[in-house]
Amino acid sequence: MYLMTTTSYVTTHLSYMPICDLCNGNHYARSCPIEKDKNYTQGLKEFGGHEIENKIGQYIKCPAIESNGKVCGGTLTILNDNSPSKDAVCTCGRIFEIKSKALSIPKGRIPDNLAFYGGLYDETVHRIEKEGLHILFVIYSINRIDKTITISTVYHASNRILRNEKYQSVIITKRKDNNLSYIEIPNKINLKELSIPEIKFSFKTQFEILKAMVNK
Ligand SMILES: [Zn+2]
Ligand SMILES: [Zn+2]
Repeated sequence: MYLMTTTSYVTTHLSYMPICDLCNGNHYARSCPIEKDKNYTQGLKEFGGHEIENKIGQYIKCPAIESNGKVCGGTLTILNDNSPSKDAVCTCGRIFEIKSKALSIPKGRIPDNLAFYGGLYDETVHRIEKEGLHILFVIYSINRIDKTITISTVYHASNRILRNEKYQSVIITKRKDNNLSYIEIPNKINLKELSIPEIKFSFKTQFEILKAMVNK
């Protein structure tokens, strides 16, 4: 057993040379120049973003707390209409923004402080102050070998938390160079982590389409 392990290690080691499964270049897929090129990967990114939202609509029930102290539990309908800072609406009428971030680390190693790029700053603030916006923060990991995305964690920032300036559990600032926002969570413990099943989907088909485009 020991010998077998050693042999296979040596073989692997000697023949070792990363080959990108997107462009066949000698690099890992994660450092692929084509994968970093928006002209190629915009479609793949949009697919991932939409699919994450669809999965949230499919698996997450409205976590808002009613005045009687009970969780709403209503169905979240994903809008997919490019409304700024409004991605989903519950049967109870509350509105949600969904922000996601790729962190390919085990769930237990998610850092305490998190930051997300947000949508239009003025719209986001307006919706929080005037329309009762809630935000769902989604952490997902990308498996480049299996071509799957797994949603590991979802945090809920209620409208009450978003409006509470004293505790600053979520800090939204305007970015310097444009009208977009930057959202910081100094400590994730101040948000409610929702209990979710394993949510996983494949982007293999979209990857194959991209690969065919790159290699034609
Ligand atoms: Zn490559
Ligand atoms: Zn609801």
